Amino acid sequence: MSYEIKCTVCGQTSANLLDYKCRKCENPLDLRLDFAFNVKGVRKRVHGVWRYTKFFPYIKPSEIVTLGEGWTPLIRFFGNVYFKLEGLNPTGSFKDRGSTVLISAIHKHVKAYGGFISEDSSGNAGASIAAYAARAGIKAKIYVPENVSGPKLNQIMFYGAEVVKVSGNRSHVAEEAQKQERRKFYVGHILHPVFRDGIRSLAYEISEQLNWEAPESVYLPVSAGMLLLGVISGFKHLAVSGVIAKMPKIVACQTRQVSPLYHRFKGLPYHPPEKITSIADALVSTNPPLLELIAKELRTVNGDAVIVEEDEILKAFKELAERGFFVEPRSAVAYAAFKKQREKGKVARGEKAVIVLTGTGLKTALKPN
Ligand SMILES: [Zn+2]
Repeated sequence: MSYEIKCTVCGQTSANLLDYKCRKCENPLDLRLDFAFNVKGVRKRVHGVWRYTKFFPYIKPSEIVTLGEGWTPLIRFFGNVYFKLEGLNPTGSFKDRGSTVLISAIHKHVKAYGGFISEDSSGNAGASIAAYAARAGIKAKIYVPENVSGPKLNQIMFYGAEVVKVSGNRSHVAEEAQKQERRKFYVGHILHPVFRDGIRSLAYEISEQLNWEAPESVYLPVSAGMLLLGVISGFKHLAVSGVIAKMPKIVACQTRQVSPLYHRFKGLPYHPPEKITSIADALVSTNPPLLELIAKELRTVNGDAVIVEEDEILKAFKELAERGFFVEPRSAVAYAAFKKQREKGKVARGEKAVIVLTGTGLKTALKPN
């Protein structure tokens, strides 16, 4: 079993799991798989991401850092429409899939150097990385914009991470987190190919929970794009390995305010707002560094992109809660997009659709009425 970490632009390869960008041209790296998936390799008694240990060949089983992530329920909502409840992961979002894989891959190395990891995120990714660093016994510095507060920041701090507040815009926060410093290892979830690779476990699970069939469509909220890229990678792997007969249609769901992928995909100009006021406050990437790659991947799998309005998101959020699903507003974006497509007649009768509900509602700052 093997894999390769390769630059998405110049093709330069990397043998170092700690690399998060090309050493030659600084463009994003991608982790490519060079082995087939087979159902027999699944560890049936493990109910989590690590039932797929065999398909993460760069991880030593004895070095796995886990909090019990993955194998989240796939619930039938109605008819052939399913929800994948990613908010039930240990820190409350799908990001734990990336964290468990990335931290498992690097924690020994970081420890051996007496080092610490750095990440820029004041949201779910920051909380997730902080939790897995705590579990691994390594120090984490989480860089956040200076004005943030709220449940996610509290969560990061309770896990014991050091919070570094940075003034200026979001990209300045990322620059500070990446700035060279002795013994610092940057693990930023947006760029890191190993973090993204962990997300492919989500595609394996959806297929396995549907008895090794792919759904006809998968609806995902998209911000920086690692959820989308990870899920596409997983389904592609199953398809080329002959485990599933056909790729599902991947539908990228965005808010009108933060919709660079939608506009790029549809060939339309995108003008981001000066200030993002969307209730889906986890969707913030107006200029995602991986935009080219995301748009390309979405095209190669014949995917689609949809945008939804603020009132549609709020309505979907409330509707989900009133049916027992308390999710973060980002997740409501995917459900709102599904509803919109259905109203437009773009969902076939009886179509098997999976909507990924990415995170728990318990961290939201929204107030009822
Ligand atoms: Zn390169």
